[in-house]
Amino acid sequence: MKRIAIIGGGIAGLSAGIYALKSGFACDIYEQHVFAGGQCTSWKRKGFHIDNCVHWLTGTNPETQMYQVWKELHVLGDEVEILQNPSFLHIESEHGSLDLWQDTQRMRRELLALSPQDAVAINDFVDQIDIYKGMDMPALKPLEQLSLKEWWQLLKKLRPIGKIHGKLSRISLQAYAQRFKHPLLQQMILAYMPHTYNISSWLFVLGTFCSGNGALPKGGSEGMISRMIQQFEALGGTIHTRKKATSFTYGKKCINSIVFSDSTTASADFYIAACDASVTFHQLLHKDINEKFFATRFIDKKLHPVYSSFNTYIAVDADTSFIADTTWITCSPYQAAGKSHASILLKNFVNEPEYAPEGKNIFQTLLVQYEDDFDFWSDLYQHHPEKYKQEKAHIAAQIIERLEQHYPSLKGKLSVVETVSPYSFNRFCGAYKGSYMSFILTPYAKKKSHKGYIKGIKNLYITGQWLQPPGGLPNAAVTGKFTIQRLCRAIKVPFNRISK
Ligand SMILES: Cc1cc2nc3c(=O)[nH]c(=O)nc-3n(C[C@H](O)[C@H](O)[C@H](O)COP(=O)(O)OP(=O)(O)OC[C@H]3O[C@@H](n4cnc5c(N)ncnc54)[C@H](O)[C@@H]3O)c2cc1C
Repeated sequence: MKRIAIIGGGIAGLSAGIYALKSGFACDIYEQHVFAGGQCTSWKRKGFHIDNCVHWLTGTNPETQMYQVWKELHVLGDEVEILQNPSFLHIESEHGSLDLWQDTQRMRRELLALSPQDAVAINDFVDQIDIYKGMDMPALKPLEQLSLKEWWQLLKKLRPIGKIHGKLSRISLQAYAQRFKHPLLQQMILAYMPHTYNISSWLFVLGTFCSGNGALPKGGSEGMISRMIQQFEALGGTIHTRKKATSFTYGKKCINSIVFSDSTTASADFYIAACDASVTFHQLLHKDINEKFFATRFIDKKLHPVYSSFNTYIAVDADTSFIADTTWITCSPYQAAGKSHASILLKNFVNEPEYAPEGKNIFQTLLVQYEDDFDFWSDLYQHHPEKYKQEKAHIAAQIIERLEQHYPSLKGKLSVVETVSPYSFNRFCGAYKGSYMSFILTPYAKKKSHKGYIKGIKNLYITGQWLQPPGGLPNAAVTGKFTIQRLCRAIKVPFNRISK
């Protein structure tokens, strides 16, 4: 039996591991952290459950290819409850309030009532969301393995989106927002995603949500990961935690073993690097690897930026059911990492009462952070640890103050449970610049995926969200699957989706 060694036990590593075992390989995952899960993580703090990942999951609609993958990985299935919120985002600002409803007719009606003068732009926007509802993320096979018939079926399904996608993917969120005269509608375009994204990315999110394909599995990130680990181990795989890969030893055009920070090594027939791409390219592999896709992306920050966030978890000693699941509010300016901000993105875990002790709730706020912000946090953590703690506490205090101003009934009932800086993502997962997604899809970037082969090393594959920008959970899971499909094709063994 051929053996595969996987570096990294995030969604991609677990996905590759599960499909590898189903296809008859023996498989070990080597994870640097104390538990698997990678960015899709959660933990306990002060009696609260911190869910630091999933806000929406592409693939909750059973009719889609992505659902099938999640089902095969035991992430979704008949036994997993799906939480479908009526609105993706509730927005409240000095210009009024609105909701991005799942029901696009209601969304259209309410947006038109809010700003009749924007009728053309509103109708275009909602028409485009309706078209993106037809998006079924390709997850059957790597594109180069599709038969002619499968290509034809894919093109037929995606033709309506294809007609508008090319043009829209060249338009920035900023430029698209200018189509609206009403300032609240401009905020509707700019509120949720980093401003450097193209508009098709936002339409993809909304189309996915509105078609019922972007809901949430009950139990969130912990539920997803624990079901994957269970499945991997039930199939005979082993996860080795606290195993930080530091380099490889090489044979002729191949890898002989992985070397870990504790000086141990592990050998296998095939190696899969499912860790952050910067770890693979900047730490594990030879410096002279000729790899254009990542080399250009790590250098060209304008074309291929990345982002992270500063997350605050806030205990609420009150009922929060009057607040939507996800809300964006404007507020008086506050300072974070040397910059001024005047909005808060708030996630209310009211649908997950077990995340907080009885009678209480927990909020998460996310503040987008870019690469220069990461450098700020990295410098503080490494050179001024006290200031690092103070800055985190100061941001959290300001956010609580703004929330209390916005929701007067919560005054005196909010307290900090946890803060997570972009540097934390780097420390715990090796995330490049703290980024927990892949490269942002800017209007100028080439929309390309990487196949995961490294020229000149025949028994190594790379996998994970970085292969398919903009990343995220479905891309991580799909690349794990595609890697095993490519490996099976290369060595001429059948790929199995179902356990034998
Ligand atoms: C706050 C937050 C919110 C998010 N919300 C969503 C969402 O709503 N929807 C969505 O689709 N996505 C979301 N994401 C993104 C999603 O979590 C990631 O896209 C996904 O988990 C990436 O999976 P991965 O396996 O490719 O990489 P990772 O999760 O980064 O896994 C890589 C693994 O490799 C390990 N590793 C790194 N270096 C080494 C080494 N040298 N040796 C051994 N192991 C190593 C790491 O510890 C990690 O476990 C969110 C992420 C965060 C942090």
